Amino acid sequence: MKDYYDKNDRKRKKNKQKGLRIAFAVILCLVLVGVVGLLVFLLLRKEPGPVVPSVSTSQPDEASSQDIPSPNEEVLARAKVIAAMYDYDGAINYIKSEVPDYTSDLALSVFISECSALKTKLVKWADNSTITHIFFHTLVADNATAWSSYNASDYNTVMTTIDEFNKIIQIMYDEGYVLVHLSDIAKIVKTADGTSQMTFQPIYLPKGKTPFVLSVDDVSYYEYMNNTGFATKLVIGEDGKITCEKATYEGVANNLVRDENGAPIVQSVEYGAFDVVPLLDAFVEAHPDFSYHGAKGTIALTGYNGVLGYRTSDIAYGAGDPDWPGAYEYLNVNLEADKAEAKRVAEAMKAEGWKFASHTWGHMNMSSVVTSSGNELNGKIQGDRFKRDTEWWMREVSPIIGPTDIIIFAFGADIGTWRNYNFYGENEAFMYLKSLGFDYYCNVDSSKHAWVQLSATDGGDGYLRMARRNLDGQLMFKTMVYEKFYADDQKKQKNILSDLFDPKVVFDRTRPLPVPGVVYPEGADLNSIFN
Ligand SMILES: [Zn+2]
Repeated sequence: MKDYYDKNDRKRKKNKQKGLRIAFAVILCLVLVGVVGLLVFLLLRKEPGPVVPSVSTSQPDEASSQDIPSPNEEVLARAKVIAAMYDYDGAINYIKSEVPDYTSDLALSVFISECSALKTKLVKWADNSTITHIFFHTLVADNATAWSSYNASDYNTVMTTIDEFNKIIQIMYDEGYVLVHLSDIAKIVKTADGTSQMTFQPIYLPKGKTPFVLSVDDVSYYEYMNNTGFATKLVIGEDGKITCEKATYEGVANNLVRDENGAPIVQSVEYGAFDVVPLLDAFVEAHPDFSYHGAKGTIALTGYNGVLGYRTSDIAYGAGDPDWPGAYEYLNVNLEADKAEAKRVAEAMKAEGWKFASHTWGHMNMSSVVTSSGNELNGKIQGDRFKRDTEWWMREVSPIIGPTDIIIFAFGADIGTWRNYNFYGENEAFMYLKSLGFDYYCNVDSSKHAWVQLSATDGGDGYLRMARRNLDGQLMFKTMVYEKFYADDQKKQKNILSDLFDPKVVFDRTRPLPVPGVVYPEGADLNSIFN
């Protein structure tokens, strides 16, 4: 630049007038001022911008993108949550779709390159058949009321308290567990030969992280649970998030006092995180790295008392059905409004990463309505209850929660042995459920850390079957009793959950002892199990 000027100057030296030179200098000055001004403007524009809201996540955090202000701060904040859930491609694609000229935003560009780097550090989970699946029921929200209720023995056995749930989730998070969905483990995909088959899917997590599945059974807030220490309904709170309604009514459990419309008479009502859904939502919001690609849990629903605390069943609360005796039926004059509200809640839950499953309509023991050949269940349907119950579920629950491909058997009562469903020839019950779109089948078995069965072709395009572990009062008590009094009994040692957490730390000491259904030595000091 300088040379060029000098050269020009020399060339024209002789003929140039002084005035022309001055004019040139003035233009040069103006250009310089313009360039400096532009630089200052650009610097000022970037410097004092608001700080990007930091998401509490371990990745990518050390990275410098946190310090660079971005004019697209909301996009960056959301992308950071997606990335914290190990979905780096998702985070990058989200940025690219929201900000087409993302390359002109330094913070976004830096963040994208960080995501690409972190993605290379992920490792594929070695064996999807080793993934554990835990489940809960609706949580005990008021211990004193539950333990003194008419149903205390059952609650003590199969329920978990809020305090226990919070401890379990914190411990599992600290141990590196990460929520995945059944569909992350395997799904039906087209193969090279053009057929469709259930196929294990790669799960990519950082080294040291362990995938697991979580489900919650019977999120119905059944009539029998009224006034016994549980939430009564899932609702959408003022902030748009799912929360619980916890009401107490006039009357007792199954015999509430009702007004002329059949509605219970509310004595008091409070709102808050009294159950798994809002508790886990809040936990994942604070710890997005507890969730793989946004996965939460699967909610297993029956239909006979409606769903999610809404009395939505026409059979139980509306037109009725001659085949249903209707233990607690009354006419719900708000039936249609309740269906619409339950649907709204279900949609909000799905948007937050929850999935839904059938738990049969009438909490039916499906093992009891299929036949056996010898000792083996071969799945031949016995009588008409099996199909009738399934039709009722499809008619009353499916329209509220949307289509689902998951069935979580009530009582864990499966429709076949441990062998593939079609091992003994076509399993009629399985083929019927499969024809309705059920591809994922879950039972209960706490004697193994994990039990996963994949069939690529049964019923056409196969299924995934998974056993679940009940993290309830009984299994925690059993674990402590077996470790304390039966340490030499190898068979008993298999029935424990100490690989997940120490029940001595988690077990709610407000529980009455003993928890029913667990053997222990006569005269044993049960309080010694906590030492
Ligand atoms: Zn159940």
